[in-house]
Amino acid sequence: MNDIAHNLAQVREKISAAASRCGRASEEVTLLAVSKTKPASAVAEAINAGQRAFGENYVQEGVEKVRHFREAGTEGLTWHFIGPLQSNKSRLVAEHFDWCHTVDRLRIATRLSEQRPPHLPPLNVLIQVNISDEASKSGVSLAEVDALADAIVELKGVTLRGLMAIPAPESDYVRQFAVAGQMAVAFTRLKARYPTVDTLSLGMSDDMDAAIAAGSTMVRIGTAIFGVRDYTKK
Ligand SMILES: *Cc1c(COP(=O)(O)O)cnc(C)c1O
Repeated sequence: MNDIAHNLAQVREKISAAASRCGRASEEVTLLAVSKTKPASAVAEAINAGQRAFGENYVQEGVEKVRHFREAGTEGLTWHFIGPLQSNKSRLVAEHFDWCHTVDRLRIATRLSEQRPPHLPPLNVLIQVNISDEASKSGVSLAEVDALADAIVELKGVTLRGLMAIPAPESDYVRQFAVAGQMAVAFTRLKARYPTVDTLSLGMSDDMDAAIAAGSTMVRIGTAIFGVRDYTKK
């Protein structure tokens, strides 16, 4: 087995173990392979190992990979935009991606909706919550989720699927679980209000177990699959 296939098998194993420890089925948790800065050849290795959902942070780089695999005729992939989104890049996301995890204002949601090509299904969107209330992070506060959700569900070109957060780094499991639990409560409330809501994008390499125990349905893992990133080449 090559490294990426081996790493993927290990990550999947960790997800199953974390799910079974809290009595959840591993199928309830989708693994999003975060391929930012990695070449299409690395993504191809992951595809050969059965991976289908990929996350990208940089619009142009992500679009190149989406095009590459579309031209190669690879079917069944889903591409998730998970980076900060500026208004002037929204069209590229609306035209090429299947999901956007980082919607934190109505203006961006409206642009994505208007720019979504009519021949494609609506773009799946998540509201990003600034759960650790960090000034440097994007995302709305928990108190703002309902109002933004109410407005997003009126838009024709997007489908509200749930919530996403990037909690501040925290090594203590109990504190990780407390933060993840706040997200899970908000997610459960939103799901009760809107039938399209089914996704809580929460959990990275260091807090995956706590996120899954709290109820995450999608974990975002990069380095543990593809190895460390080299930003000097960008
Ligand atoms: C880069 C990134 C990840 C993956 O991080 P790793 O530490 O490489 O596993 C997950 N979520 C978001 C939003 C990211 O930007």
